[in-house]
Amino acid sequence: MRTFAFARADSVERAVERRQGEPASAFVAGGTTLLDLVKLDVMRPSRVIDINALPLKSVERLHDDRLRIGALVTNTDLAYHPDVLADHPLLSQAILAGASTQVRNMATTGGNLMQRTRCPYFRDPTAACNKREPGSGCDARDGFNRMHAVLGGSDQCVAVHPSDMCVALAAIGATLTLQGPNGEREIDVADFHRLPGATPHLEHDLDDELIVAVTLAPPLKPLGTAYVKRRDRAAYEFALASAGAMLSLDEDLIGEARLALGGVATKPWRCHEAEALLAGKRAEIAAFEAAADVALADAEPLSHNAFKIPLARQAIVRALRDAARVAREDNA
Ligand SMILES: Cc1cc2nc3c(=O)[nH]c(=O)nc-3n(C[C@H](O)[C@H](O)[C@H](O)COP(=O)(O)OP(=O)(O)OC[C@H]3O[C@@H](n4cnc5c(N)ncnc54)[C@H](O)[C@@H]3O)c2cc1C
Repeated sequence: MRTFAFARADSVERAVERRQGEPASAFVAGGTTLLDLVKLDVMRPSRVIDINALPLKSVERLHDDRLRIGALVTNTDLAYHPDVLADHPLLSQAILAGASTQVRNMATTGGNLMQRTRCPYFRDPTAACNKREPGSGCDARDGFNRMHAVLGGSDQCVAVHPSDMCVALAAIGATLTLQGPNGEREIDVADFHRLPGATPHLEHDLDDELIVAVTLAPPLKPLGTAYVKRRDRAAYEFALASAGAMLSLDEDLIGEARLALGGVATKPWRCHEAEALLAGKRAEIAAFEAAADVALADAEPLSHNAFKIPLARQAIVRALRDAARVAREDNA
């Protein structure tokens, strides 16, 4: 392992200051992504800044019914927070579908947003990977690409964004608060993760900044939600395809629908066209299947992952069906 400097920050301003003039520095929160990648020699920070002492560990209800989540709230605390369970069950369901209890106890909201892809070529410093080393090529394109993206890929990169939590955030709608050397700014979560295009190493719209909070949009009501995750084993595994669905129903007609996908795309994937198709329709399988077809219309399989398209279709239909069932029970 390479040596690096280590610093503990005791305020947000100090944490940001510590990054100045040190482009290869990295914040560490739970460490469940960063330390693995340092040990694999994939991330090579010259300085690691521990942010665990910062006052970013609370969930606060704002006057307009939005929830503001500190960046250091752990995945476990977030998933079981009473306001999240009451207003944003999809977030809780998605988080609890990921990782293990031990990992979730350490993992933080900010770290989850910033987690790196699980592409085996990215995690192997001897392989060609444009994300890890710009211009080196992409061994996944013609390699073992069973886990890779069918949506949002480019010639340069087809690595999947691995987060379950971020799929829920994409469906719910959220704003990130970022603190940088020039002060604070806000960004919509939909604009935060970038498509790889010709610059897959640029994964976020983050410029030497610290994520300080995530603020969730007010809840949809009445609401049914479901998170369906398809993976190689039933627990402790990343998604091959996942779907997060939110539906509000008026009698049996869909009021508002939200749908986002994980495991199939290079960023958390919101399906706006499918949502538009669902609005005003009767909540029944035919409508859910039509929405799934629209959501996956642009999907392009690689040599080993054509199976992901029917798998994702089935996850979408199942998630919409289950969300409708919950919404009906809620209305009853
Ligand atoms: C065995 C295993 C299984 C897993 N399974 C799943 C799964 O099924 N689904 C899933 O979604 N995830 C899964 N994960 C990933 C896990 O959710 C992430 O590792 C975790 O969320 C990262 O959070 P952290 O606080 O540990 O981040 P860290 O490792 O501390 O940091 C990760 C990155 O984020 C940056 N960072 C951290 N906090 C901030 C901040 N506030 N502002 C700016 N940058 C920041 C760090 O510099 C680093 O680059 C798994 C992880 C492991 C180890």
